[in-house]
Amino acid sequence: MVANTTGGVSFDTDEETELILDSLDEFIEREVEPIVEELGDVYTNPRKGHHENGRWTDEVLEAREEIRRRSAEGGFYAMNLPEDAGGEGVSPVTWYRAKKHLASHGGGLERYALAGPEGPKPLLLQAEGEQVERYLEPTVRAEKSTAFAQTEPGYGSDSPNMETTAEKDGDEWVLNGRKQWITNAPYADFVQLFARTTPQEEAGRYGGITCFIVERDEYELGSYNNAVGAEGSQAEIILDDVRVPDDRVLGEVDEAFYAAMEFLSLGRLELGAEAVGYGEYLLEDATEYVTEREAFGRSIGNFQQVSSKLAQGRAKTYAADAAGLKLAWKMAEGERTVMDSSILKWFATNVLWEVADAAVQVHGANGLAEENPYMDIVHQARILRIVEGTDEIQLNTIAKSMGVTE
Ligand SMILES: Cc1cc2nc3c(=O)[nH]c(=O)nc-3n(C[C@H](O)[C@H](O)[C@H](O)COP(=O)(O)OP(=O)(O)OC[C@H]3O[C@@H](n4cnc5c(N)ncnc54)[C@H](O)[C@@H]3O)c2cc1C
Repeated sequence: MVANTTGGVSFDTDEETELILDSLDEFIEREVEPIVEELGDVYTNPRKGHHENGRWTDEVLEAREEIRRRSAEGGFYAMNLPEDAGGEGVSPVTWYRAKKHLASHGGGLERYALAGPEGPKPLLLQAEGEQVERYLEPTVRAEKSTAFAQTEPGYGSDSPNMETTAEKDGDEWVLNGRKQWITNAPYADFVQLFARTTPQEEAGRYGGITCFIVERDEYELGSYNNAVGAEGSQAEIILDDVRVPDDRVLGEVDEAFYAAMEFLSLGRLELGAEAVGYGEYLLEDATEYVTEREAFGRSIGNFQQVSSKLAQGRAKTYAADAAGLKLAWKMAEGERTVMDSSILKWFATNVLWEVADAAVQVHGANGLAEENPYMDIVHQARILRIVEGTDEIQLNTIAKSMGVTE
């Protein structure tokens, strides 16, 4: 028997991660909070920060850009990318904790301090030759922003069935089709757009799809897809005989879907971190509120129906965080994480949905007041359960990994 060992498991945070989280806090306080304060509720109130069609106002766009740029200068924005791509090469565990930490500030404009859908993702690391200087490096420095365009009107969960096509014509590709719900499409300098280049009958379901870099002045913007809670961020992309040169292929022709699948776990880790971070923010805030607010002569936290909601939220958020840390650790070890990432995505986002609902409920009418962030986080939770693989798709993946389904 080996006594006093941890059996190889450790939840210690290394000094480097502690240092990064402390500096991130200082950075948010010093560089980001003044911008957030100056903007007031223009960002959080959908009636104020948008034009009629949904587009963010210049004031909001400038604030977002300023935060991203300052964060890149400070070395935070894309710190999870390798050093040779301009990142800091921090481990998935540190990235998970930083994303969670940021979300635990409450999910306002602060979120732009770490690269999200508009920033560089591992898919872009496939950039070669001139693509590196023109697209990858400026995106890592937050001087340019991008988007990931896969979903179409007819195909979301079933995206390999996409109808957008690209046909080779000399040394150019001709793109035709329509994408929708593409985050940052209205503001991106370029999008990473998926199109079928070889029919499914020849290349198989996941083969035959290629990723193209399409610049903003080359695609037409359709309507804004205004989701409640994310107004102004998503829009349609219309491709009508759009010609791009051959050197806009990102990665290998016909292999883009496989490349994207390799990076699915990272996206799910990030969304899980956000869900846990928002949950922690809400629980802390609600705890303060229920210990101060009184009804029937005592603080409302003493009513079992109130305390039970928060205790259950705490227990589930704790478990979701453990699932996030384990996924991040397995990714750092280079292990297979298909099931782990679906577990985190499904569990953490559903826990947040419950916690956000509880936070609204224990605040009474104040929970619904538009100047408070609780309903906004309810909307974020609802969005998180749909994007990057719905609840049902995550459960399908888990069941398949278990061998329950074929
Ligand atoms: C705020 C927001 C941001 C987004 N950003 C982007 C982006 O940047 N880029 C991008 O490409 N897309 C983006 N999307 C699109 C998103 O990825 C899709 O909405 C999502 O994949 C679901 O596709 P769908 O909406 O077509 O729903 P569908 O696929 O039509 O699904 C409808 C319902 O059927 C269920 N269902 C479908 N198939 C199965 C199945 N096999 N088993 C069980 N249930 C099933 C789904 O779970 C869902 O409940 C975004 C969406 C939103 C709301």
